[in-house]
Parts: sequence; structure tokens; C-alpha cells
Amino acid sequence: MSDHYVKVKVQLEQMKSSGEGVEKEEADMIEVLVASPEVLVASPPASVSPVPASCTPAAQREPPKTSVTCRNQSKSRRKLGKDEKNTGTKQDSVPALQGTIVASNANLGKPVNRKDHEQQTLQIKGTGKMLQGKTETNGNAVPIHLPEDNKVDPHNKEDANKVAKRRKPVTVDTFKAKTSLEALKLSIRQLKWKEFPVGRRSACDIYWHGVSFHDNDNIISGQVNKFPGMIEMLRKINLTRAVRTMQELFPEEYNFYPRSWILPEEYQLFSTQVQDNNWDGDVSQKPTFIIKPDGGSQGDGIYLIRDPGDLRVIAGSHTKQSVVQEYIHKPLLIDKLKFDIRLYVLVKSLEPLEIYIAKEGLSRFCTEPYQEPSQKNLSHVFMHLTNYSLNVQSGNFVHSDSLSSGSKRTFSSVLYRLASKGVDIKKVWSDIISLVIKTIIALVPELKVYYQADIPPGKPGPTCFQILGFDILLMKNLKPVLLEVNANPSMRIEHEQEVSPGVFEYVPSPVDEEVKVGVIRDTLRLMDPAQKKSLTSYPEHQQEELSGSPVRGAGEEGRVLPSMCLKQVFPKYTKQFSYLRTVERITALFLRFLGVKGNMRLGPTGFRTFIRNCKLSNSHFSMATVDILYIDVTRRWASMLPGSREAGMGLQAFVEAFFYLAQRRFKSLPLREQVVSLLEVCEAQLENQGRGDPGGALPEDSTSSTRRSGKGHPPRPFYPITNRPLAQQYPPMH
Ligand code: ADP
Repeated sequence: MSDHYVKVKVQLEQMKSSGEGVEKEEADMIEVLVASPEVLVASPPASVSPVPASCTPAAQREPPKTSVTCRNQSKSRRKLGKDEKNTGTKQDSVPALQGTIVASNANLGKPVNRKDHEQQTLQIKGTGKMLQGKTETNGNAVPIHLPEDNKVDPHNKEDANKVAKRRKPVTVDTFKAKTSLEALKLSIRQLKWKEFPVGRRSACDIYWHGVSFHDNDNIISGQVNKFPGMIEMLRKINLTRAVRTMQELFPEEYNFYPRSWILPEEYQLFSTQVQDNNWDGDVSQKPTFIIKPDGGSQGDGIYLIRDPGDLRVIAGSHTKQSVVQEYIHKPLLIDKLKFDIRLYVLVKSLEPLEIYIAKEGLSRFCTEPYQEPSQKNLSHVFMHLTNYSLNVQSGNFVHSDSLSSGSKRTFSSVLYRLASKGVDIKKVWSDIISLVIKTIIALVPELKVYYQADIPPGKPGPTCFQILGFDILLMKNLKPVLLEVNANPSMRIEHEQEVSPGVFEYVPSPVDEEVKVGVIRDTLRLMDPAQKKSLTSYPEHQQEELSGSPVRGAGEEGRVLPSMCLKQVFPKYTKQFSYLRTVERITALFLRFLGVKGNMRLGPTGFRTFIRNCKLSNSHFSMATVDILYIDVTRRWASMLPGSREAGMGLQAFVEAFFYLAQRRFKSLPLREQVVSLLEVCEAQLENQGRGDPGGALPEDSTSSTRRSGKGHPPRPFYPITNRPLAQQYPPMH
């Protein structure tokens, strides 16, 4: 037993025996960590130490071409670990620019106000369990004995196992699975389900698509592992817009997403804000920004600048759609290296919203020691970008069979390192869970519109679920920051290795296999149609335990699977987060007036009907003004979404119009209360109509709500969401 082991074990024992602040679940997790010898072996920092001279490709010396140069070194390698997001919409790489120093006194380095940060901490129980199960290697089966008795009580766990034994295996169509195939096959084998590798004439229970819901458009039943519209929603610009709407309403709750501007449309705004903003008077920290092409992945086309002027060259010539974002310049480092976290999240259903988080994730390390951005190092991709696909091309990349060392490790091994240094990892987990739930709450409104367009209620169609890849950065102060969400996270469980000069082979990657097979297998377990039905008859706290029981097909040999690596976080934490679902309520109105014809845009008549049915017009707000509002907002959004083919008012435009109406009616309230008050008005009117009560128009200014809050915001001009001064919306990250 190493000294390190003993020290940590003693610390943990002390924590446990002191009792206070250490919940049983945390103690459970600690137990699991301590019991796992592998994670106790401290990652050898030397193994990922830099070899600057020999391995630094030309990239480091030729800043403008860095990312491109790196990526061209080995064409075949570029496919490795690719998040297959936005397939078919891949952007050309933009040559990285070496920016010049901005003359702004930006304050991106300001530490987060500790008090504010603590106030935001949610009391989430159960996070301690997140790492449980990690010691169980995927597929390790534990024998159990099934009773002989033929009488079956479905509420009896053992009897339920017997029923499961007799059922036909679940069928999975893997024809379109693409690079997930290997992990999927392993999972299906472990579950003893039936795979249909080239599809099946009759319907399957589950369809596994590699890219999109539309990989196969002929599915009318069963469950598909992709939601319509997810790829679109997770493109960098749309994600930014969705989060920004939430930041409008809940600035503090959504301050986990770095300040971002959409290019080219907000170039002027970005430029002005950077020049004008005194960044709280701290001139010592010059801001750095990261430019990310919309729909890009694997670090393609990403570059850093310190002066908006450097961006103009590119934006001017290409007018490339991208997001420019505040660069988090004080990330948490391990072994002097920047790293990020890839967490797998299952959206099991949109209605009702069900979210699961994988207890284990991946940490991807840079391959060159981190230095805060300076004019000299802006182009050092191996220092600033954590993408596996980039760093694997560095001579410093360490492939390791251990889960706790090398350039790609399990997230639990990182947490373990942090715990041993006294970090409150329970709080880190709780903040991450909260970030994940809030992000999905921001995405759900638009996803519901896509869903209804593709699978209208009452029409035959499959239901959907999806595994998402959350990329999260921990700041030095341990605050998690959302970098992006991948609709198609790489599920590859092997990596390419040069076995002899010039000869590459795919070899198994134990870290990837450990994490990804568990995620796919347990997603399947949760989606098992029979399991779903039988589990719902148990209380929620028992469902997780029971899902470790034999599943359909797995019982033949009397084996059980490892306990679930996916942990339900929603609806489990509904109470803490339901107040954030305001935009979803606006979406319910939108969908109601949209009808079910498969379109996603509201026409002028639909908008008028909404106003009329909710009794929002009166002598001061005529129907003519309503039409002008419709045209104004719709036109503005059409210019912002040049590629959109459909005419009419989309959800985002509707939300903006709704905000405007709310501001008009409830002038003196903060925006959030204005919006909720208007929602109450609309919902009450529609409910009355549902009951056959025609109701009456409400007064222009509902003073009852105004009175509730003594101080409020002054009435605001009609600003589109995207053009509102961002500096006023939410505080800087640091
Ligand atoms: P891609 O989809 O191309 O991988 P990401 O948004 O994930 O784009 O960014 C690539 C990498 O750049 C991330 O893995 C992270 O290391 C780094 N990065 C991205 N955004 C920021 C940021 N705002 N601050 C610091 N580093 C960032």
C-alpha cells in the first residue's frame, strides 16, 4: 500500500467518522474510490511532460497556420475520436491569426465573487454516488440464483427477473450506427439482445443512428437514439442564442457560459463592447477571445485573438458564421496542463423531461504546459486547446492503458487527484450537474418545436432519446464552464496507433471502452421497452437499484450486469430547477398556435390568433400594431438566419415578441417577472376558454403585479435579444 494511499485513506476515514458534511452517499463514493487501486496510482506527470523541441511541429513556429498544420500531419488520424457532429456541414479551416494587443482595460481575470458563487450552489444530494460502479469493468457479470417457482409477482424483484428471462430479446437496428458500432455491438452482446446489422423488414425496438434522426426516415415505431433538430440546436451559434435567452431571464443562473458574440452580425457590437468596456477597471488583464466557426468540431478553424481588429481581416473576407467568446485564461491545471471534461448525458425524453448523467467521464489533456495567453503563445494549440484530435498529433501525447494517467484519463481519476488535495469534489459535481440541467432546459424549447414538426402528436412515429457529449472546463477557482455540447459525441473505443513506421492500426483504448460501453449499454437498459414499463411501477429510489437486475435476454445464463453508470438528475432535482422553465411555457403557447401541420413557423394569422385568444390587444395596442410587431420581429430574425427556407415567425422570434409584450404590459418589473406575469395572463385566458368562459380583456398595465415588487426595471426599448448590450446582461466570467 503506497504512502499516498494510506494518507488519503486516513483522510477519508476521518471525514467519514467526523460525520458532519459527509453524507452516506459521499462516503459510498469515497469507498469506491479507495477500493479502486488503479486510481490510487498517481498519474505520473513525467509521462505527459513536454518535449518541446523534437515534437513541436512547425505549428508552434508558424503561428498563423498552427491548427491547419497540425491537422495536416496525418490525414488518417484526423478521423480519430471525431465528434460526428454537423456531418456534411464541415467548415473550411480558418488560418489562425496572430492578434495584436488590444488597448482595452479588460477585466477577464477578475476572480468570481466567492459569495455569489456560493449562493448559487445548489443543495444537490446524491452526487456522491456519481462515481459508484466505476470499479466494475464493463460486462463483468455476477452470478445470481433464480427461484424455481412459477408463480410470478411483477413487484417481486426475483419474479420480475423470471419474467425477463422468458421474454423475447430486445431488437436493435444497428445499420446506421457508424463509428458507435463497436461499442454498441459490445453493449448488445452484454445485454444478450438481438442485433440487426443490416436492418430488418419488420420493426425493431431500438434504432441506433450514427448522425441524425433522419438517418432513416422510414421509422414509424420503436425508439430512435437521436432527436430531430439536436444537431441544429447544438451548433455553436444556436447554443449561444439559446443560452443567451436564458441569460436574459436568469443572468446569475446562466453565468457558466462565457460571454459570446455571434459573427458576422455582432462584429460591431463585439468591437465596441471590447473597446468601451473598462472590464471593471482592471487594466492589468488584457482580454483574449477565442473564435469558433459555427458547426466546427475537433478544434477546426479555432484561433485566439486579443484585438477585435484581428478578427476583422477574416470576418471581412469570408463573413464566416462563428462565435467569438471570452477566453477562459485561468483554467484549473493538473501537472501544469490544461484539461477539459467530456461528460455523457442521456436525454431520455423531452416530455416529461428526463435527464441522466454518466457517473464516469473523460478528461482530455493538453500536451504542452499551459501559460496564460500572451501575444507570443496565442497560436500554441497544444497549450490552449484540449481537443483529443489535435493533441494526439503532438509527439507528447501519451496513450496509456491506465485509466488515471496519460493524455486521456477517466474523470473520476482527476476528481480523485483533486480530492486528495482537499478539493470539495462533491461541490464540483453538484455544480456540473446543475450546469448540465440548466443547459438542457435552455435547449428543450426549440427541441420541442422540432419534435412536433417531425413527430406530430397523435401521428405514428418513434419516440426519441439521445446521448450528448458535454465539454466542460474547470476554472482555477473550480467553477465549471460550458464549452460546448456535442450532438454526436465520439463513441469510438479504439485509437489509431503507428505500429511500425507509416503503418497504422486500430488498437483498443481501455479508457474509452471503460467509459463509452457503459454509457451505451446503460442507455439501452433504460430504453428497454419492458424495463421501462416494469420500472415505473417501483418508487424512483428503487429504480436505479433494480435496473442492475437481469434485463431481457441477459437472464439466460443467470447473470446480472454492473450497476447503472447513468444517474438520473431530472426529474429528480425538479424542485431546484423548475422555475427556470419559463421559455418552455412560452413554447407551449407557440406550439398551440402553430398547429400540428409539421411546420415550425407561425404565420401572421397564427400570431394574431394568439394575441386575440390571450386578449392582449386593447385600445392602446391595436391589431394593426400587432401586425407591425410581427413583421418587425420576423424580418429581423430572417436576416439573422440567412439559410432558413421557411417563412414566418420561428420560436426565437416569438420569444422575443413575447418579451416585448411583457415589457409593455408590466413596465416596472424586472424582465423575469414581466414574462412570468404575462404567461399567467395568457395561460389563464386560454384555460378560461377551454372551460367555455370567454373572459375579459385585462387592463393595459396589471398594477397588481407591479405592486408586488417595489423596485423594478424602467421600461426598455424594443431591443432584439441578440443586440442587447451584453455587458449589461450578465457579469464577466472571471
Ligand atoms: P470544437 O467543437 O471545435 O472542439 P470547442 O468549443 O470544444 O470547439 O473548443 C475547442 C477547445 O478550445 C476546447 O476543447 C477547449 O480546450 C478550448 N476552448 C474553447 N472555448 C474556450 C474558452 N471560452 N476558454 C478557454 N478555452 C476554450
